[in-house]
Amino acid sequence: MSTITEIFGSMVFNYTVMKERLPKDTYRELQETIRRGHRLDINVASIIANSMKDWAIEKGATHYTHWFQPMTGITAEKHDSFISPTADGNIIMEFSGKELIQGEPDASSFPSGGLRTTFEARGYTAWDPTSYAFIKDGVLCIPTAFCSYGGEALDKKTPLLRSMEAINRQALRILKLFGNDTVTNVKTTVGPEQEYFLIDRGMFEKRKDLIYTGRTLYGARPPKGQELEDHYFGFIKPRVAAFMKDLDQELWKLGILAKTEHNEAAPSQHELAPIFTTANISADHNQLTMETMQKVARRHNLVCLLHEKPFAGVNGSGKHNNWSLCTDTGVNLLEPGETPCENAQFLLFLCSVIKAVDEYQDLLRISIASASNDHRLGANEAPPAIVSIFLGTELNDILESIEKSTTYDAKAKEQLKVGVHVLPRFFKDTTDRNRTSPFAFTGNKFEFRMLGASASISDANTVLNTAVAQELKQFADTLEKADDFGKALNELIKKVIREHKRIIFNGNGYEQAWIEEAEKRGLLNLKSAPDCIPYLLKEKNIDLFESHRVLSKTEIHSRYEVMLESYCKMLNIEALTMIDMTRKDILPAVSAFSKELSETALLKKKINPENECGYEENLVKRISELSSAMYVKVGELESAMSEVKKITDAADSARFYRDTVFATMKWIRAYADELESMTDKKYWPYPSYGEILFSVM
Ligand code: ADP
Ligand code: MG
Repeated sequence: MSTITEIFGSMVFNYTVMKERLPKDTYRELQETIRRGHRLDINVASIIANSMKDWAIEKGATHYTHWFQPMTGITAEKHDSFISPTADGNIIMEFSGKELIQGEPDASSFPSGGLRTTFEARGYTAWDPTSYAFIKDGVLCIPTAFCSYGGEALDKKTPLLRSMEAINRQALRILKLFGNDTVTNVKTTVGPEQEYFLIDRGMFEKRKDLIYTGRTLYGARPPKGQELEDHYFGFIKPRVAAFMKDLDQELWKLGILAKTEHNEAAPSQHELAPIFTTANISADHNQLTMETMQKVARRHNLVCLLHEKPFAGVNGSGKHNNWSLCTDTGVNLLEPGETPCENAQFLLFLCSVIKAVDEYQDLLRISIASASNDHRLGANEAPPAIVSIFLGTELNDILESIEKSTTYDAKAKEQLKVGVHVLPRFFKDTTDRNRTSPFAFTGNKFEFRMLGASASISDANTVLNTAVAQELKQFADTLEKADDFGKALNELIKKVIREHKRIIFNGNGYEQAWIEEAEKRGLLNLKSAPDCIPYLLKEKNIDLFESHRVLSKTEIHSRYEVMLESYCKMLNIEALTMIDMTRKDILPAVSAFSKELSETALLKKKINPENECGYEENLVKRISELSSAMYVKVGELESAMSEVKKITDAADSARFYRDTVFATMKWIRAYADELESMTDKKYWPYPSYGEILFSVM
């Protein structure tokens, strides 16, 4: 049995391995290339490739792949073996520098939102040397960006990397203004907390809806749900504990800092939190975590569900994206400082986030939008669809006193040179855990809580980085010109608080009163994906992405198309699955049950015409009503499905899916769930919610 330190990162070609295996010059050149963000020299690449290959073969790898993150939000890979024939009929194991730095997956079926019809049909992948290569299932995986031949990003990683550069550029300008010349790099750090369900594989395989759509389209409420909250942080059942142990080992091998695992609010729901790291690595790691969870679950005869809402009426699964900025000198820029100057700098960065979240509410909402996440947001278990910031009362009071130029604390009333108050150290621990806030300051980082469990974290962080970069740019533009820095800084902070405090809300986000209040404040409430996606094309948003060179107008249009297309596809699959389940399983099952009831009633009457048959007769009547209504609605759903094919505009199509297809599905579900509650268990074709949710011991 190896120790954790031996296991950790054992399947990763990290700096330690590189230092050990690469010639000194090559190692230095690679470091230099990464630091400057330049393209890697082919000769250097060849040496690295060879060393990587030897290392991988020693670890049992036979193949390599360029691992990338297409716009589907999951990861893609195509395996090539290292073998290469020799003239004498033998083989050698080869991996060239060219193969390391660039690949050409035949990837024409990945969504491109029209990009590849105007450019080359095939895209290419390019190594991102800032994330480590690793071995997964005997395959050496090279993390790559995926682009078209015209250079357009076809993936989620490229914009994320570009947004990290953008925020780095602007943050450095701000730091310079505060007299900090030693910092050469500012990185975004992210720690995503991942929720998931774990259910028995046997149960899963009996449910077409889970198999095809990831969520249950039918299911009556179980007698016991999560009302007792006895699962939350509760005792971890042996089967689950064995899974978690195995999962940790697998993640550690990949160098993923899996740290805490616990039960969540709903039965069978759990959470995994990693230790935070640089945003792009964190995005890679989160993808690997999701994939590994599903793989390890299978080994334990379990299935890991990452859908945002697998069970109606039971809490869904999200992902909390903890986000901050860190300098290469190790300073967290969202950590309130010890000195007044550090505090002023902290407040300026805080203000950049406040302004960014207010001005780009729509983009943040879009960055987490999907058909599956629509089930969660605003359902009083996840944050509402309205974006707002929670700061906690302490920090809120401080901002208010700055705005009004009053002294926050009589004891700390030194009005300092920079015009900013001393921040009391205690507020960090008093930020209460307001679970209803979509965007909460938690002491030294922001926690964006609207992400769905299955989402790639890249989109949310790309938006966050770019929007904050934009505000920092404006701040730097103003402050660099100022004659009196302290005065200008003070005015700037005040102005931001005054103009953007509407986005700050410290109350209960689940209350109806907040929805009304938010409307009065002019905040957006974009309830569904089709409502918010069109905002992507707003001029201010295109300007934002273009001016920071994160996405071009063409790339934004392609993303817009892909998002709407995925929304429609998801609903299309759900509707087809529902039709299939209803026609082939549910209607025949209740019909058979009715037959049994009718025959029983007839028999009872035959024995004695005086016999009461209330149970049988009433039930047959109700089942008949419900199944007839259901049959009619399924017909309507089918017509809607042919109707939607005639719509050519993607946004119109998405709205039709939501308003007509999904609305009809809700009716059908209501009939089915009532039928389930009255049908003999032996006739009902699927395991019940109770059986699924309480099956793992
Ligand atoms: P909890 O919320 O359970 O008390 P923490 O607040 O320590 O736990 O962290 C929650 C998540 O936030 C973890 O994944 C952690 O690594 C991450 N995190 C902590 N500090 C930062 C930071 N500076 N930047 C990004 N993520 C962070
Ligand atoms: Mg959290």
